[in-house]
Amino acid sequence: MNYNNTDNKLSILKNKLQNKEIGFYEAISCFLDNIKANKTLNCYTDVFEEDAIKKARELDIRANKGEQLGALAGIPIAIKDNIAVNGKVNSCCSNFLRGIKANSDADVIKRLKAADAILIGKTNMDEFAMGTSNETSCYGPVLNPVDNTRVPGGSSGGSACAVKIGSCVAALGTDTGGSIRQPASHCGVVGFKPTKGAISNKGIVALAPSLDQVGILSSDTDGVASVLKILSDFSKTHVNKLLNQTIKVGIADDFLFEGMSSDIANTLDRAKDKLTHHGVEFVKVDLPSFKGALADYMILSYAEAAISLDRFDGIKYGNNFGGDAAYNRTKGFGYEAKRRIMLGKFFATDSRYEKYYLKAIGVRRRLCDELNEAFARCDYLMTPSSLMAAYGLGEDVSAHKEIAYSDMYTVLANLADLPAVSVPFGHDCAGLPIGIHFIGKHNADFDLLSFAHILEL
Ligand code: GLN
Repeated sequence: MNYNNTDNKLSILKNKLQNKEIGFYEAISCFLDNIKANKTLNCYTDVFEEDAIKKARELDIRANKGEQLGALAGIPIAIKDNIAVNGKVNSCCSNFLRGIKANSDADVIKRLKAADAILIGKTNMDEFAMGTSNETSCYGPVLNPVDNTRVPGGSSGGSACAVKIGSCVAALGTDTGGSIRQPASHCGVVGFKPTKGAISNKGIVALAPSLDQVGILSSDTDGVASVLKILSDFSKTHVNKLLNQTIKVGIADDFLFEGMSSDIANTLDRAKDKLTHHGVEFVKVDLPSFKGALADYMILSYAEAAISLDRFDGIKYGNNFGGDAAYNRTKGFGYEAKRRIMLGKFFATDSRYEKYYLKAIGVRRRLCDELNEAFARCDYLMTPSSLMAAYGLGEDVSAHKEIAYSDMYTVLANLADLPAVSVPFGHDCAGLPIGIHFIGKHNADFDLLSFAHILEL
């Protein structure tokens, strides 16, 4: 088979495998070839070639015997390098964990294995999931597959790139403030963060536990939903519930930020037109706390990250660089991790605990209340996924204010534990993908995906 990665859809591969148009080994070989052909993009930190081939051969034998196979039989899935796969390195792309293997599977990995999915490899990411560009990885940056001079977004940049190049059909990422949705938007794939708790986080290396959530990237919303069905306990009965009613989408005036590029603003308008054409109504909502949400996210996530990373000393935990804990931490952590640990400790200790941390908790609560009120008037909120399309590798962030604000929409869903998705919707004038971002109500994960599918029609 000449595998065509523009058609890299889970449903297509699944049908071909089920109808025996292609064998499991034959299919996995095509994906492994795509990994090799795109090596320079640096999106994998480890490729499970032998295991993947072994699993594919086993599936071929079981299929020939007429055995019942799992729901994701033969579907290649890539795994972000902060999600534990038994016996494989789980480095979080940090020198501190480089070479250290996990000794058990994360819950999501157990479920994928039980569904007969093929784990194809670990994907590159920002160190400890801290970043928006994948440039803080100890293995070097991932290149954007659409334009190799640009960043893929972060922190799950490797996962987004891996889906885009057709080296897997879906990938797992983690999202603390946008790390699935933002790279999905920059690479032109779908990125989904579920309702907090809908998928187990057990077995991921925590960044900021109150905000972290494992999620899914794939080429289309249907691919995401197929994997979500396996990873979550939600029943499919939610799907299409809303399609017979008028769907209302809320937009706050504040979402239309003055620094937004005209390409993003135009894309938003086009998405609005398309949804209106499909009978969707738009309402104005008020979210006064939106403007403070990004700062709130920074205080809370940095404070939590400082605590999560406290156990790294190179003696009981993490690689030893030949010194005491302070020396090992100096050598083990990269610049961004150190910056966040210092700021996180600053925000949450001594008199600053009340001034910053407690205040940030109050803002988070207020934001949740405002979102609840907004969701009494609408079913989904719509925003751009990011303020801008993918920027150049090595760009000076201090010279480009919008880069620092690029998570301003995505953090809302993490702060309020809500499900959210980024769906590719066209390109800017330079041909770079742009994503539209929808936030749904608690536990409306499948509804959100079927609603977002309208943009794919
Ligand atoms: N870009 C955000 C940050 O750097 C989000 C990271 C994430 O979701 N892990 O904090």
